[in-house]
Amino acid sequence: MSKVKSYAALSEKTPLEPYNIIRRECNSEDVLIKIEYCGVCHSDIHMARNEWHNTSIFPMVPGHEIIGVVESIGNSVSKFKIGDSVGVGVYVDSCGKCDNCNDSMDHYCEKGVVLTYNSYEYGTTTITYGGYSKKIVVKESYVIGIPKGMIKEKAAPLLCAGITTYSPLRYLNVGQGHKVGVTGFGGLGHMGVKFASSMGAEVTIFSTSESKKQDAINMGAHNFVNVNDKEQLIKAQNSCHYILDTVSANRDMAQVFSLLKTDGRIMTVGLPMEPHAISSFSLIDKRKGIIGSSIGSIVETQEMINYCNENNIYPEVEMIPISKINEAFERIINKDIRFRFVIDMSSL
Ligand SMILES: [Zn+2]
Ligand SMILES: [Zn+2]
Repeated sequence: MSKVKSYAALSEKTPLEPYNIIRRECNSEDVLIKIEYCGVCHSDIHMARNEWHNTSIFPMVPGHEIIGVVESIGNSVSKFKIGDSVGVGVYVDSCGKCDNCNDSMDHYCEKGVVLTYNSYEYGTTTITYGGYSKKIVVKESYVIGIPKGMIKEKAAPLLCAGITTYSPLRYLNVGQGHKVGVTGFGGLGHMGVKFASSMGAEVTIFSTSESKKQDAINMGAHNFVNVNDKEQLIKAQNSCHYILDTVSANRDMAQVFSLLKTDGRIMTVGLPMEPHAISSFSLIDKRKGIIGSSIGSIVETQEMINYCNENNIYPEVEMIPISKINEAFERIINKDIRFRFVIDMSSL
């Protein structure tokens, strides 16, 4: 057991503050990681403020976009050695026995994964603590290798925002000849644009932020539709094979379905607070559908990291010291962020 410096929310009403946590010593399968960078995900805010159906556990150390370096290893670890660059994403354990775990879909473990933070380790009352912290201990099979030469501070958000958008695009075999719409142009949406265009699709961004139009084009989008402009929306009807829906707000879904071609699919990765109202009329007309997707498996996350390395794909990030984390939360809520914050953990 060792004491580790971190930043924690002690309750849903209090800002994050310096806090010491206890991490376990390395068991035989564990890797001890010195954390260098941690991305700030919008779910960190929802969790720290207990906004998701009262599921928050306090004290809470958020952070599930972790990049660091291996500092020590348990005696049966074979995937990593001391000094390797590594990453940790949204979960740190799964049952390893269910159909999904056996089918390389451990992120959909039937028992439920152990989340990187705000979870209990299986069969214990030990709370998991995330990456707003100096060090973390994780079983090697849930650790992602970061190839030499990757820009580590920019790679952090790939572990959640990256895999969340990569996985559904791969699931639908998005590629040349496909027209893909991306709704929302924030942390998730901008990664969706980069991935879909790199896979060969023609990408249209649907956004309320006209000021980000040039950014969208620079990132590989072919078209930009301002969703506040009715005329542009009508023109865009029946134009997409797939829509990657990253918006976490309730809105008129009939309008989103109207953008799809026959047999089109909405791939939803956003998490609005209230259930969507979806009319059957939107579905039966032109045989349309909607599919949900949550992060990706460990195998797929490694594949995504390697893909980003080979294709030079990174999120747009703004680095902050940990002392600015509460300000960063407010700026995310106010949409005053060009895509993703990453905390330089050497500031802690
Ligand atoms: Zn996340
Ligand atoms: Zn399982």
